[in-house]
Amino acid sequence: MEKDLKSKTLAQLERLVTGLGQPKYIAGYIFSEIQARGVTDISAITTLSKSFRAKLVEEGCYISKLEIVDKLTDPDGTVKYVFGLSDGGRIESVLLFDDDRRTLCVSTQAGCAMGCVFCATARLGLVRNLAASEIVDQVNLAGGNARISNVVFMGMGEPLANYDAVLDAVRILNNSAGRHIGIRHLTVSTCGLVEGIERLADEDIQPRLAISLNAPTDAIRQKLMPITKKYPLDRLFAAIGRYQRTTRNRVTFEYCLIKGVNDTVLHAQMLVKRLLAPLEKTAIRNFPANRRFLTGRGVMCNVNLIEYNPHEGCNLKPSGRQAIERFSGVLKDAGIETTIRLKMGQTINAACGQLGSKRTENLE
Ligand code: SF4
Repeated sequence: MEKDLKSKTLAQLERLVTGLGQPKYIAGYIFSEIQARGVTDISAITTLSKSFRAKLVEEGCYISKLEIVDKLTDPDGTVKYVFGLSDGGRIESVLLFDDDRRTLCVSTQAGCAMGCVFCATARLGLVRNLAASEIVDQVNLAGGNARISNVVFMGMGEPLANYDAVLDAVRILNNSAGRHIGIRHLTVSTCGLVEGIERLADEDIQPRLAISLNAPTDAIRQKLMPITKKYPLDRLFAAIGRYQRTTRNRVTFEYCLIKGVNDTVLHAQMLVKRLLAPLEKTAIRNFPANRRFLTGRGVMCNVNLIEYNPHEGCNLKPSGRQAIERFSGVLKDAGIETTIRLKMGQTINAACGQLGSKRTENLE
């Protein structure tokens, strides 16, 4: 049994307290003290009787806490947090500011096994999955007292490879007795783990889904993302179709533009063809008429074009501004909602694909 109370959803805490002979509502006290008030010591939960607090300790229960070991601020305002794990490992989160939105990009694993060639985290390999408490605590600690409005599970690691902890973190962050971050403000990003996408479609809680796509064909994607060998694009898009049939949620595609690899007009045209290819007829028919127009005929989506961020040990080059604008123009002309994401946090290695790169390793 997981003994860290911070890793538990409200429902899991309810099962714990009733199993120890207490009424269910007691779980609400524990949950809000930990997740809303930041209590890290069971003895400080004074809404519980002294004897029950002692019982929890006797059962081996505890409340974990991440440690901030470094905080780096880029001139553009982006902040990178480096957190120390209890086993000595390091993970990173990035806080981005956009008008009144404060978006935290959190890690879900220490390292990553997916091997995407454009990503510095891949070079670390997978160290381990993070516990739900370690994911949630990044949100608790980043930004000080300022409220985090959006959380993207897009930092170090592949979220759907740590499915249960990520879903528990989503439930904890969304709960109104805790940080109460709206479900539409919680986004899980995947390199395309098909079973995870299908599983997500059947959940009773529906965070937003982002797909790190980065190529219009299997041949190009395989060179960038080894996962494509296991899950070719047809299989990935079938899973996305199933996800949309069930949830009716729009999907975000992340597309990192790399010079001469995936950034030409032809690549953009191939991407349009892929995104507008009809999903199964039932999927389209079931969309409400007022949302069908968002994608024309195909997958209901928006595309984020990301400037590639170079890092040491990788020879890929970023696309020029003109190439990015041209690529964006092709998508927009086809009626696909497209946003160009400018580089943020580059001087502190906090930009997309840079987490876990050299500067952070040197902190150890
Ligand atoms: S891009 Fe994401 S999935 Fe790919 S190696 Fe990096 S962290 Fe892992």
